Amino acid sequence: MKNIILYGAPAAGKGTMCEILVERLGYKHISTGELFRSLDDSTELGRFIHERIAKGILIDDETTATLVKNRLAELEGPVVLDGFPRTLNQAKILDGFFSDYVVINIEVSEEVALKRTLGRVNCPKCGRIYNIYTDMKPKQDNICDDCGCELKGRSDDNEESFKVRFNTYLANVESVLNYYKGKNSLYIIQSYESKEETYADIKKILDSQE
Ligand SMILES: [Zn+2]
Repeated sequence: MKNIILYGAPAAGKGTMCEILVERLGYKHISTGELFRSLDDSTELGRFIHERIAKGILIDDETTATLVKNRLAELEGPVVLDGFPRTLNQAKILDGFFSDYVVINIEVSEEVALKRTLGRVNCPKCGRIYNIYTDMKPKQDNICDDCGCELKGRSDDNEESFKVRFNTYLANVESVLNYYKGKNSLYIIQSYESKEETYADIKKILDSQE
């Protein structure tokens, strides 16, 4: 299986696809957010990065790339990169030590993404997340499948904040996606309501590479 660099706008289902790739195909998941969090504060690098994140300062491309490179060296088997490279410069650095990959962008319209985001509800007791607009909806309206509690809406996004987040993401990744398009490495798929359909498209791309 080829390595994957996976892109997807907010609510495109990128996180779910990463989970499926890990579970079913044995991919190793590398996310820069997780890499930053996992660093040990007893190391100089760990302290440097955690201090910067706490102050809201972006981590520079070279440092981020080095962390990715180190993690790659620890892992065996195909990997799915999630959240990296986020800039054109990062993509060029990555090409210095990473190869044999396909780039997959999961597209979703702003309208659908907004609806999904606002449709997110969770169980106040067990924390399980549902979505009333997708195949992740509870079996009974507004009731947790696991504990029978009434589900509550998640208030971390409203329509305005979502639209800003969504469009900022698109503007940020445009140059990276164009870079991969120019290298003929980019595949574009749609985010379906059913995660199985979305996954089937990813699998088709992987099978076509064998
Ligand atoms: Zn529950």
